[in-house]
Amino acid sequence: MGKPALSFEIATTVTQVESWRTKTSGRTVGFVPTMGALHEGHMALVDTARKTCDQVIVSIFVNPLQFGPNEDFGKYPRSLEQDFLICQKFGVDAVFHPSIDIIYPQGETETTTVQPPAQLISGLCGAFRPGHFIGVATVVNKLFNIVQPDCAFFGEKDYQQLQVIKHMADDLNMNVKIIGVPTMREEDGLALSSRNVYLSEAQRKLAPTLYAALSEAKSAILSGTSISAAVAIAKSRITSLDDVTLQYLECCNPRTLQPVSDPQAPCRILVAAKYGDVRLIDNLVVNP
Ligand code: AMP
Repeated sequence: MGKPALSFEIATTVTQVESWRTKTSGRTVGFVPTMGALHEGHMALVDTARKTCDQVIVSIFVNPLQFGPNEDFGKYPRSLEQDFLICQKFGVDAVFHPSIDIIYPQGETETTTVQPPAQLISGLCGAFRPGHFIGVATVVNKLFNIVQPDCAFFGEKDYQQLQVIKHMADDLNMNVKIIGVPTMREEDGLALSSRNVYLSEAQRKLAPTLYAALSEAKSAILSGTSISAAVAIAKSRITSLDDVTLQYLECCNPRTLQPVSDPQAPCRILVAAKYGDVRLIDNLVVNP
């Protein structure tokens, strides 16, 4: 017996996406860009896309331009067959999985890039991953041009990324609506992430401390503790763990991502830490 046929379109070239788009003309298209190794968090985006649009297309592309030289591009998890089955189960209509030379025919170092404003990318993850958001904005811009979606869906889990994309779409008058989707978590609070598979058993046990620290800081701020005191307590909770390196834990304005000190002001708390070699990020709304 052969493998069951997949019920969605698979496109690997720009022309194939264009011909799928011709077939979908007159219907709204929702787009979910991913790097694959799909999990329930990605499917939360697909579910929202299906409720919002007539057709849903997912891209699977591990984008070399957004990885630094010492980052995990080579060992980023890849599981295309499994990803296809997940897309099938969740009723995706098309998957675009281009090779690197389809996206960067001149090579990724020779491409025109998108430069988000410094205010959005110099802090938080941007401070630890120089060039990362240029890579993200560039590939998302290219994917938007290829797919021509009506709406595109991004997880709040990568909150700085969501703001960079929202600003890019606004600033460059892109004809696409950017929709943020709340973070899906394990029962113990750990945000779902493709990188969680790299956590050792011991690191996996410790990983929910990230969300716990954010939740405690949020409650403390909402019950009158100053932002600086709440942040200091949350930081010390993480830095006291063995084999865990805190990169940042900050309260920021949810749109500008600039630091916030007024507990009444709109505020989101964001964190990144390395559990061994595995870099985890998370964030939580404090005041919308
Ligand atoms: P990635 O494949 O990691 O680039 O993620 C693709 C999209 O899925 C991004 O918009 C992420 O923010 C989103 N995403 C990843 N993990 C989660 C999660 N746990 N909950 C919601 N969205 C997520």
